[in-house]
Amino acid sequence: MVFNIENALIIMSVIIGIILILLLISGNIKEYISREFYSLGTLNQLKVCGRKANKAIDESIRKLCEIDDKMSVFKENSEISKINQYAGKQSLIVSEDTYYVIEKAIKYCMLSEGAFDITIRPIVALWGIGKEDVRVPGSSEIKQKLKVVNYKDIVIDKNNSSILLKNEKQEIDVGGIAKGYAADQVRDIMIKNKIKSALINLGGNIFVIGSKDDGNAWTVGIQNPFKRRGEFALTISVINKSVVTSGNYERYFETGGKKFHHIINPSTGYPSESDIISSTIISDNSIDGDGLSTGTYIMGVFKAMRLIEEMKGIDAIFITKNKEVYVTSGLSGKVTLTNNEFVYKNSI
Ligand code: ADP
Ligand code: MG
Repeated sequence: MVFNIENALIIMSVIIGIILILLLISGNIKEYISREFYSLGTLNQLKVCGRKANKAIDESIRKLCEIDDKMSVFKENSEISKINQYAGKQSLIVSEDTYYVIEKAIKYCMLSEGAFDITIRPIVALWGIGKEDVRVPGSSEIKQKLKVVNYKDIVIDKNNSSILLKNEKQEIDVGGIAKGYAADQVRDIMIKNKIKSALINLGGNIFVIGSKDDGNAWTVGIQNPFKRRGEFALTISVINKSVVTSGNYERYFETGGKKFHHIINPSTGYPSESDIISSTIISDNSIDGDGLSTGTYIMGVFKAMRLIEEMKGIDAIFITKNKEVYVTSGLSGKVTLTNNEFVYKNSI
């Protein structure tokens, strides 16, 4: 080969290319791999940085589909559907996943004093939430179905992992908590694959692993409940945390000039009309955040602030109808209002 400038340049670029590939393989250059997919009735995104990123994403998608198969009320053969079919008749032995979710769900039913109640399914079905045929049911239908809503009728037995609903016509729906459990499972898969930095987004249910590749904390935006998706009311800066929001803008329909959303107050059978329109929980485990965000949304800001301030390691941000923002004490210095229509109202 003749040695001239042209050849020297080619050789140099090849060497640089090889060095770059080696750096990538050894993990010294950080690059996120991002994948979007549909599961758990919603669009999900995993953004993962690390040598085993693709493997971790594949495993996560498989686990999410498994959780969906076990826990969806829209799948006839799911464990949840079977528990509902057996209601008042016999108990069902369920998988570890389903048992754990139901056990945790009952804890949040109790803590929220029934504001969160997974036996809400007959009412959710009446409204057509999660389906095409949404409608406003008649008040007598609601009254009738409300009679069977009572989480105290869920009988669980740890010895054989079984679940029983005491009365016929009772039905459970873990839609208000399963995504949190799913996010925790993805977190565990990421950690097993030595992923140091990742963003898990299960339909707005966020879990951040580590900090960003530049070493800074992640900034998570909290949706402005009055605006189009993607416009934030505030941001929060977090490392290794779950950030879960329940909001009136997530799923709703409008009729006769009135908006009906998907979070039902079990004491009325109608969509919650507490002063809270957006409830965000920041926690180490997403299952806690998911159960509590739905529950506190219904409880209203006074009770919700009191409950979360009492819980160690769990924080919250509540936005009220009046654009007031309540933040628990553990979050001081971490929240930034990004829209000046909102005002802090930190004490109750
Ligand atoms: P999203 O599913 O939009 O993330 P949530 O976590 O707040 O929102 O869960 C809302 C879902 O929980 C509803 O779609 C319904 O399936 C169920 N749900 C509605 N009201 C209640 C309630 N009071 N207690 C428990 N689950 C509920
Ligand atoms: Mg929830």
